[in-house]
Amino acid sequence: MALLGRKKGILDRLDAGEVVIGDGGYVIALERRGYVKAGQWTPEAAVEHPEAVRQLHREFLRAGASVLQTFTFYCSDEKLKISDSIVNITGRQINEAACDLAREVANEGDALVAGCISQTPCYFNTTNESEVKAIFKKQLDVFLEKDVDFLIVEFFEHVEEAEWAIQVLQTSGKPVAATLCMSPEGDRHGVSPGDCAVRLVKAGANIVGVNCHLDPMCGVKTVKLMKEGLEAAKLKAHLMVQPLGFHTPECNHGGYISLPEFPFALESRAITRWDMQKYAREAYNAGIRYIGGCCGFEPYHIRALAEELAPERGFLPPASEKHAPWGGALEHHPKPWIRLRASRDYWEKLLPASGRPKCPSMATPEK
Ligand SMILES: [Zn+2]
Repeated sequence: MALLGRKKGILDRLDAGEVVIGDGGYVIALERRGYVKAGQWTPEAAVEHPEAVRQLHREFLRAGASVLQTFTFYCSDEKLKISDSIVNITGRQINEAACDLAREVANEGDALVAGCISQTPCYFNTTNESEVKAIFKKQLDVFLEKDVDFLIVEFFEHVEEAEWAIQVLQTSGKPVAATLCMSPEGDRHGVSPGDCAVRLVKAGANIVGVNCHLDPMCGVKTVKLMKEGLEAAKLKAHLMVQPLGFHTPECNHGGYISLPEFPFALESRAITRWDMQKYAREAYNAGIRYIGGCCGFEPYHIRALAEELAPERGFLPPASEKHAPWGGALEHHPKPWIRLRASRDYWEKLLPASGRPKCPSMATPEK
């Protein structure tokens, strides 16, 4: 049954020290399922195939997500115009449909809805502040009409553009989270993570961190640097991390986009559920309380975060009804050697083989 009344807001949850589990990546998952066109990466599926978006929201909720992000990545009219796969659908229609879908599923549990905006081609082409801000304002208008619970500025490569986005969104009075897709080296202009964090908070963000581009351990490392920057500047904000669900140990500043496998041969880099538990613990120990994922994060990865942090949260997600901790379900396997795998020790120590004898373990990033 849908919960009635107002849910506890994002800042109330974080201020109380609760662990907030984010959701996973929509664009890559829906591309693989046949609803998003690679290269464009636009979210018209919210209008064309709402059942596909609804189902993915539902799976993340069942896996333990405390937040469902609107499927509004790259959803400005300006960006949509560049896409050749959209006919007769406006940005407003997609933004509205995405808000409705996220709200419908969030109300099936205790999740919040976050309205999300991402970087614009306009910033890259013109760096015209008023034009870029007008694009954000248009999306914000829909988020306010649909009364989302809070806002997320995500996938920004330049801290300056993220500052502009925050300045627009914080006029709404709703909490704002801001995540850059950057490495420990900083943003695309070489602004360090510590300085980026200070600028995001000064622009009005309540929650800051990183998303996408690099793997979980790298994401935690970068957020630790952001935390140090905030402490040095005597500023306070909640911390957030939503990295890739792919291993990217050799990645540079450009992130996974600079790997030769991007975007159609990333499968061999997929992170296991056991790696995810390790990441959830590392992030928690670093003081990060909003922990989720981005591209490559499937619902079972989110479930692994929720299971690792179940002692802190005080509950397991519904999807754990079908998953015993640390391979426990194998205790009843008919084959005795498989039954021996019902142990934490086995899965923690396993080094998974790739099954590809001629493949290198690392690639050379292009840029
Ligand atoms: Zn991503």
